[in-house]
Amino acid sequence: MRILLVDDSSTMRRIQKTQLTNLGVTDIFEAGDGEAALGVLANTTGLDYILLDWNMPVMDGLTFLKRVREDGTYSKVKVVMCTSESEKERVFEALKAGANDYIVKPFTPEALKEKLKL
Ligand SMILES: [Mg+2]
Repeated sequence: MRILLVDDSSTMRRIQKTQLTNLGVTDIFEAGDGEAALGVLANTTGLDYILLDWNMPVMDGLTFLKRVREDGTYSKVKVVMCTSESEKERVFEALKAGANDYIVKPFTPEALKEKLKL
């Protein structure tokens, strides 16, 4: 299982990384914004999942998602939007843009396990 974490909060990435490591995931990549994530994506083969934050500087999550879905190369990579409670009503927008699922922050390791079918 190869996962890319995209979040501008290094604290959030650290928490997610710890949760994933505890769930047995060993191949974890990180990016602090959408543009950096496009770079990681281009240089990483076989990614299974992207955990994607909404609000980030440089390039936000929705813009990144649209860019990824415009490019057929990444059609097999599943994108899970990480939303806050207040962003829940925007989920439809993300699903329409090609997100596969969403998870509400802060999430438990159990919720993550279920979403990623670990
Ligand atoms: Mg953010």
